[in-house]
Amino acid sequence: MQNKYQTVVKDLVLVGGGHSHVAVLKRFGMHPVPGLRLTLIARDVHTPYSGMLPGFIAGHYGYDGCHIDLGALARFAGARLFHDEVEGLDLDERRVLCQNRPPVRFDLLSLNIGSRPNTVASPGAAELALPVKPIDRFLTRWGQLMQRVLDSASPVKLVVVGGGAGGVELALATQHRLQTELVARGRSAKAVHHTLVTDTPQILPSHNPRVRSKFERILMERNIPIHTDRLVSEVRPDRLVFEDGESLAADAALWVTQASAPAWLADSGLATDARGFIQVNERLQSISHTTVFAAGDIASVVGHPRPKSGVFAVRQGPPLAENLRRAALGRKLKPFRPQRHFLGLISTGDKYAVASRGGWSLEGAWVWQVKDWIDRRFMVKYNRLPVMKTQSETIVASGLADETALREISAIAMRCGGCGAKVGSTVLSRVMPRLETIPRDDVLVGLDAPDDAAVLAVPAGTHLVQTVDYFRAFLDDPYVFGRISANHALGDVYAMGAAPQAALAIATVPYGREEVVEDTLYELLCGALEVLSDAGASLVGGHSSEGQELAFGLAVNGLADMQALWRKSGMQPGERMVLTKPLGTGTLFAADMRHQAKGRWIQAAIASMSLSTRAAAQCLQRHGASACTDVTGFGLLGHLVEMTRASGVDVTIDLETLPLLEGAMETIRAGVFSSLQPQNVRLRRAIRDLETAAAHPVYPLLFDPQTAGGLLASVPAQNAESCVEELKGLGYGRAAIIGQVEPQQEALEPVRLIWDRG
Ligand SMILES: Cc1cc2nc3c(=O)[nH]c(=O)nc-3n(C[C@H](O)[C@H](O)[C@H](O)COP(=O)(O)OP(=O)(O)OC[C@H]3O[C@@H](n4cnc5c(N)ncnc54)[C@H](O)[C@@H]3O)c2cc1C
Repeated sequence: MQNKYQTVVKDLVLVGGGHSHVAVLKRFGMHPVPGLRLTLIARDVHTPYSGMLPGFIAGHYGYDGCHIDLGALARFAGARLFHDEVEGLDLDERRVLCQNRPPVRFDLLSLNIGSRPNTVASPGAAELALPVKPIDRFLTRWGQLMQRVLDSASPVKLVVVGGGAGGVELALATQHRLQTELVARGRSAKAVHHTLVTDTPQILPSHNPRVRSKFERILMERNIPIHTDRLVSEVRPDRLVFEDGESLAADAALWVTQASAPAWLADSGLATDARGFIQVNERLQSISHTTVFAAGDIASVVGHPRPKSGVFAVRQGPPLAENLRRAALGRKLKPFRPQRHFLGLISTGDKYAVASRGGWSLEGAWVWQVKDWIDRRFMVKYNRLPVMKTQSETIVASGLADETALREISAIAMRCGGCGAKVGSTVLSRVMPRLETIPRDDVLVGLDAPDDAAVLAVPAGTHLVQTVDYFRAFLDDPYVFGRISANHALGDVYAMGAAPQAALAIATVPYGREEVVEDTLYELLCGALEVLSDAGASLVGGHSSEGQELAFGLAVNGLADMQALWRKSGMQPGERMVLTKPLGTGTLFAADMRHQAKGRWIQAAIASMSLSTRAAAQCLQRHGASACTDVTGFGLLGHLVEMTRASGVDVTIDLETLPLLEGAMETIRAGVFSSLQPQNVRLRRAIRDLETAAAHPVYPLLFDPQTAGGLLASVPAQNAESCVEELKGLGYGRAAIIGQVEPQQEALEPVRLIWDRG
């Protein structure tokens, strides 16, 4: 595992968490290259293992059994995980262009993004058919299709378009699953009818005749007619239209046609083959750009054409890792020739499979068992990662740094030992022009005409609301960290009922080479600025320094009329307590640090923390909230008690209505708590009947510290339901009424916890 305090000399960026990159990550995790920073940009945080996908669809495997958790693997490898979709490359500037974040700089780039069935050639296919990739979208739509079949009173006609191994497996797997579900509900298996359509003269064209005849027989036995030599020229809502004008009735079309590549690859200037796949040499290196590598479906090895198959992607993993390491260290690359024949194990949906290699073929339930054993063994390699020691001694691997880099590194060492001060003015002078802050009339002196300090006007009749927050980075993506920090800081202003006006930023960026420091600072500020601009606040100044680790904070000003200010003291008996976001960020990030959180839990927590509080505050205002606070470091109970004390009231909280982030219950059950939790737990004395309440499984989450948590507001009873409905419509999908305000009673404890004890 990499040491996070090591100086970054080179950046290796991996795009796509496909079958080859999982091997690259594992290998770099086992044998890190000090000074080489790894970043994985992945659209999906859990990547499916293609061999088990048909078994998952057929219902033989659970989600986690056949998906590799890239969050855990990236953490193992010491790699930063950026959850995003790549949309282009700027090869001259060596930058990867993403959908939702600033460009990512690289010294070495590797692409393993797979392929998608071609939907462009058949009008209607992209909108109406279900392409099997991207897989997450397919799985969502497959779930909806299953429900549609199960709900339909009349038989549903499904057509699978594509006669390769993927199409055949998908037809048999979906049929098995649907028929099983129908029969389990006492319905006839005939309520779904499958057909297989292919534009080739035979199914499975890249396999031997024995395999083909076996599958022709199996498909016939399973009542799945095959239409060969049929090119679908259009997809309509109720049918497929063929080239000759004939058509086939179809309630849904599953699309598993020939693989295609995204257009942005060729547009970037990379050499690609006639179908748009990246042309690489035997070293898996682009034939046009030596700093770019590719593997898996997206690569086309010049002189060694092979079918698009997960088997090849898996095999290319270790040689790709080796050549990336060699390229980083300036060593000679090693050639790799993909094997010509491979063992294909094609499943039939019902725990039966056909083996195919060269000219021979075998079939049986035992073949499926062998396949199952191989596949599970593969998954164990990636989902049960060994515990590694952090490597701390070597600062930079020999061969990684050129002369300029070595000079810069020795200068950094001097800085670490001594002054450790401001980020250099050249870095700042390059970063600031790249950032745009919104102008405001009440910002008299801001960043557009920088001075020693900013000057702001406070419009007559309004009051200034001020707050400050500062964090050590709890995730390694500076852009997302910047966004969340800004959201967190603005939360206090919104909780006062104020409108953000301006902010000052304070940033600590890890020591490093100038271009690395520049990128980190830019990404951090870019994330924060996006949130500030969205809130209508101007960034008017700040201070940045270098230090051991990334940290960021904002001092935010807001403006409010005195009458509109929310105070914690405004709660009235009878009002309902509304919480706008789910709880659990503290335990989830504590679990992430210990490699105990699933990638999707962390991504869902990040999405929740990235959600601005602005619209929620406005909605609560519209519904007449009388008091409000934002739930942050003291946890729900801490902030609630602050409100009850100030308002002189008691509250009843229904534990079963508390919205929780996915995974929070699991991590709490596993005994993982944030380091702040023990301090927060001291407030338990505010709870009535503590002993009984403490036995409830949700109880520990009352003390879980939140980052960029939701607003907790007291809303008149008659408005509470409509307020929550509106909040849900505004994107706060987990907003909930969690309790009610009571008149203060004799008991000393202001909080009564209730739940269904049945
Ligand atoms: C139904 C079906 C069954 C199959 N069964 C088998 C089988 O049994 N054995 C076999 O060998 N092959 C099988 N295949 C083929 C196999 O799925 C592919 O050949 C294989 O997945 C390719 O692997 P890869 O590593 O190149 O890419 P993938 O496995 O597709 O992984 C690519 C990754 O990159 C990410 N990504 C994609 N685009 C972007 C982007 N722009 N930015 C960021 N990230 C991105 C994706 O999220 C994904 O995680 C099957 C295919 C289908 C459709």
